[in-house]
Amino acid sequence: MANYHNLSNEALQEKYNTLQDAYEKIASQQLQLDMTRGKPCTEQLDLSQPMLDVLTSASAVKTENGLDARNYGILDGIPEAKAFFASILDVSPEQVIVGGNSSLTMMHDSIVQFLLHGVSEDAAPWVKQGNVKFLCPSPGYDRHFAICEALGIEMIPVAMTPEGPNMDEVEKLAAADPQIKGIWCVPKYSNPDGITYTDNVVDRLATMKTAADDFRIFWDNAYTVHHLTDEPDELKDIITAASKAGNSDRVLQFASTSKVTFPGSGVSVLASSESNIAFYKKNLSIQSIGPDKLNQLRHVAFLKDKATLADHMKKHAAIIAPKFQTVLSILNEKLGGKGIADWTNPNGGYFISLNTMEGCAKQVVELAKKAGVTLTSAGATYPYGKDPYDANIRIAPTLPPIQDLKKAIDVLCLCVEMVSINHLLHK
Ligand code: PMP
Repeated sequence: MANYHNLSNEALQEKYNTLQDAYEKIASQQLQLDMTRGKPCTEQLDLSQPMLDVLTSASAVKTENGLDARNYGILDGIPEAKAFFASILDVSPEQVIVGGNSSLTMMHDSIVQFLLHGVSEDAAPWVKQGNVKFLCPSPGYDRHFAICEALGIEMIPVAMTPEGPNMDEVEKLAAADPQIKGIWCVPKYSNPDGITYTDNVVDRLATMKTAADDFRIFWDNAYTVHHLTDEPDELKDIITAASKAGNSDRVLQFASTSKVTFPGSGVSVLASSESNIAFYKKNLSIQSIGPDKLNQLRHVAFLKDKATLADHMKKHAAIIAPKFQTVLSILNEKLGGKGIADWTNPNGGYFISLNTMEGCAKQVVELAKKAGVTLTSAGATYPYGKDPYDANIRIAPTLPPIQDLKKAIDVLCLCVEMVSINHLLHK
């Protein structure tokens, strides 16, 4: 395939005209394809349908310590759910709070608590310490950035590398500025790049010097069991690494079953040091009388243990891995070798990250929208919605049926080619 950077303007113009004809044909079909968010498809949701049938008898609604799960109580989660998540996250049940339906809510609440009450009994509230800043490895998860923006936390973008955040940058910034109170991390199959942090990155995060003694790592391990291949990535356990380095309170690890069972009706979990868990629980006691224990019971009865969960996740992979392959093969066929885009090939998670030439992503998304394909807004993967390179587009392949997915990625590739050629012609 010819690299477009080596073509004459005449050859580029000729290609553009052909692509424009194809685009107009597709646009006239009035497609309505939504590729915006990483949602599981119906077949994936169907995998967990039997979970809704497990609490049918009177004994089924009792927790293992004999409490009636239909009533108030047990603020930090039922014992069997704590044991289940502790085994998945390699911590002790005392280091776990099992919550409600959303880990994002737990992250948001943790930050609000730190702003208002500080990170522990004897720490000053962040709001009383001046301008609070967070390090934001980018591209990253737009909803993390939305929390910071809504709560007035200044975001400092840090580049992502194939090994995780650029640690030279992270260490330098965190050591120099006591106003930097935290960092967002999606350490496994990151959103959107699908990167798993290397052991070296995990160790450096766990051990680095921070100017703020109330610095916290928000370790959003949302995709910890969401493999797409039989050779899953391994992520080093940061809670142990931080604890060994004398930083046992530094890390708050979050996860949920949103993309294991039912998004919106899953179970969330926070794992951290026992002292952080005690403090979170104290604040939580003002907010809630207890979580949805029936849903926790359902989840433990259905997902049972590590091995059962792993089998369940393989069924997810069997449904979605072909969708990822479809996207990758179209990208390869349509854009490969042209020098106008590159993309990730993740071993897990929910996204493929596409990078156009600088200054093209916004126009690509707009052009695709006009042809009936809605993509995540360009820029959404960066703090304040501003991608300094205007290059990153997040592709979420899981939701659409494969035929729709093919159409949507065809349109996307067409738009990438058109915008790139335009860019090259007007350089
Ligand atoms: N973290 C990441 C990295 C995510 O991609 C998502 C969902 N797309 C969430 C958190 C949301 O999790 P929950 O449903 O538990 O709030």
